[in-house]
Amino acid sequence: MSARARPPRFRRVALLGIGLINGSLALVMRREGLAEEIVACARTEATLATARRLGLADRTTTVPREAVAGADLVVLGTPVGAAGPVAEAMAPGLAAGAIVTDVGSIKADVIRAVVPHLAEPARFVGGHPVAGTEHSGPEAAFDTLFARRHCILTPIEDTDPDAVQTVAAMWRAAGSMVETMTPEHHDRVLAITSHLPHLIAYTIVATVADLEQHLQSEVLRYAAGGFTDFTRIAASDPVMWRDVFLHNREAVLEMLGRFTEDLAALQRAIRWGEGDKLQELFTRTRTIRRGVIAEGQAYDRHVLNGKVRQGEHDEPAAGRDP
Ligand code: NAP
Repeated sequence: MSARARPPRFRRVALLGIGLINGSLALVMRREGLAEEIVACARTEATLATARRLGLADRTTTVPREAVAGADLVVLGTPVGAAGPVAEAMAPGLAAGAIVTDVGSIKADVIRAVVPHLAEPARFVGGHPVAGTEHSGPEAAFDTLFARRHCILTPIEDTDPDAVQTVAAMWRAAGSMVETMTPEHHDRVLAITSHLPHLIAYTIVATVADLEQHLQSEVLRYAAGGFTDFTRIAASDPVMWRDVFLHNREAVLEMLGRFTEDLAALQRAIRWGEGDKLQELFTRTRTIRRGVIAEGQAYDRHVLNGKVRQGEHDEPAAGRDP
C-alpha cells in the first residue's frame, strides 16, 4: 500500500454543521481513528448538545471561526445555501494550510460561494458523498452510511492535488468508492439521477395531499408500494431540497424539460391505446433496474429503531448516487 493510500490522520477536524452527513462522518472518524480531536459547529445549542451526547464531537461551538481555529481539516456540512455565509464566517479563523472540503449535494454553486472567502483557494476540495437517508439531524447519523457508496470529488484547475488525495483517502477509509469529475458534470448527472426523482416524488405526494379529503384518506389506506416509496422520498429534509433546486436550477430545468416531453409521449400512447409502445418502454426500464442492481447500488431497507441502518439512501437511482 502506498503512503498516499493510507488513511489520513488529522490533528483537529472541524465539522461545520453536524447532522446526518457530518454526524456519520464523525462516527467514521472515531471508528477509523482519523482524527485526534473533533470540533462540531451548528446554529443551535440543542443540536450541539445532541452531538455531544452521541459522542460525535470533543468540543462544540456555535461560532464558525472558533470551530476552525487550529484545524487541519474543515468539512462544510450545512444545507448548500448556507455554505457561502458559513465559509465567510469561518475564514478569519482558518489555519494556514488547512484543507477545506464539503459534502453538499450540488457543486458548482457551492464552489462559487465558498472559494472567494478562502485565503488558500487551492486547499478547497469540493465533495459529495452520494449516500443519505430521508432522516436528518445528528440522531440520524450512523457509521456505515458511506460504505460501498460513491463519493464524488470535484477539484477545479487550481486545486492542490495533495489536498484531493487526502480527502479521497478519508472517504476511502469510510468505505466509499471515490471518483472525480468537474463540478458542472456532477450537477448535470445528479440533476437526472437524484434531483428530478425527488421533484417527481414531491409532486406526486403534493397532488395526493390536494385531493379531496375523503379520497385522500382512501389513498393513504390503500397505499401500495409505489406511493409509499414516493412518500419516503418526499419526507426528505425540506430546507436541504429547497437549496438543491435553487442552486442547481439550470441543470434541473434542462432535465425537467426532457422528462416533460417523455411524459407527454407516454400520455399520447395511453390516449391512442398504443400498447406496443408502452410495453417496449416498460421493458427497457426493467433492464435499467437490473443494471442498477448489478452495480451494487440497490439495497433492501434495514430499519432499526426507526433509522435506516445499512446503505439505503434518500436519493433514488442516484445509486449511481444525492
Ligand atoms: P442535516 O442533518 O439537516 O444537518 C444540517 C446541519 O447544518 C445542522 O447541524 C444544522 O444546525 C446546520 N445548519 C443548518 N442551517 C444552517 C445555517 N444556515 N448556518 C449554519 N449551520 C446551519 O443535513 P444533512 O442531511 O447532514 O445535509 C448536509 C449537507 O449534506 C447538505 O448540503 C446536503 O446537500 C448534503 N447531503 C445530504 C444528503 C442526505 O441524504 N441528507 C446526502 C448527501 C449530501 P442546526 O441543527 O443547529 O440548525
